[in-house]
Amino acid sequence: MDLGIKGRKALVCAASKGLGKGCAVALAAEGVAVTITARGREALEATAAEIRAAGGNVAGVVAGDIATEEGRRAALAACPAPDILINNAGGPPPGDFRDWEREAWVKALDANMLTPIFLIKSTIDGMIARRFGRIVNITSGAVKAPIPELGLSNGARAGLTGFVAGVARQVSRHNVTINNLLPGQVRTDRLVSSLAHNAAKAGITPAEFEAQRLKAHPAQRFGTAEEFGAACAFLCSAQAGFITGQNLLMDGGAYPGTL
Ligand code: NAP
Repeated sequence: MDLGIKGRKALVCAASKGLGKGCAVALAAEGVAVTITARGREALEATAAEIRAAGGNVAGVVAGDIATEEGRRAALAACPAPDILINNAGGPPPGDFRDWEREAWVKALDANMLTPIFLIKSTIDGMIARRFGRIVNITSGAVKAPIPELGLSNGARAGLTGFVAGVARQVSRHNVTINNLLPGQVRTDRLVSSLAHNAAKAGITPAEFEAQRLKAHPAQRFGTAEEFGAACAFLCSAQAGFITGQNLLMDGGAYPGTL
């Protein structure tokens, strides 16, 4: 299926690894010119080389922290008028809410709520003027079913979700859509390190912990960044113009609710 976005420009944040990379690779495979960001230059350049080797167009490679004003300015300087914006950043650390002071909350809100909001604010009027825009925010399955030790993530992402629900309805008439993609357990560096952390807490090996997790999972496997990227590319397609304000869970059925 041709997604109808060949030649479009995308800014894909936090895209040297994991889910962001999955989205950049899938968009580039559709002929989108991608600008990718991450803090570490080495992995970012490796991802850019991989996309180019597969025939993709990497229009920009921006090393910087997207959760800072400086990082966002650099990303927007490299890709000032994106047709497609993929909002992503690292997730906040786990812990006990009793231990989190204002500073921890501000950091989580900056990365996982305010950064996507400011990037939407900077790019959406151009999308409206050009009568095409696709915004996908990578959030978390924790928006639907909060994970107790990830309170910072539960809170910050819920704030973004509420904001986006309102704006999506304001811009739909201009062929600009905003949707959230909610990963469940997708195998990335973050998932692997969280498995190791939880295994150590439980006093078992990461392999044993993973086997326990998978046994309890309806799909009996974790998702892949490629699957995640493919869903993202579809939400960015010309054909997906009537899908907006939605929260699409990608968890292989782990969330047990009917709706
Ligand atoms: P990952 O494998 O650790 O990859 C994170 C990517 O984001 C890397 O390229 C990293 O590069 C970049 N990055 C992180 N913080 C950044 C920042 N402040 N500015 C720019 N780039 C940044 O993580 P992931 O699993 O793909 O997770 C992506 C998001 O999805 C996170 O918010 C995570 O909490 C959420 N999520 C993931 C899962 C899952 O199962 N994988 C489930 C639920 C939610 P640098 O470190 O070099 O910056």
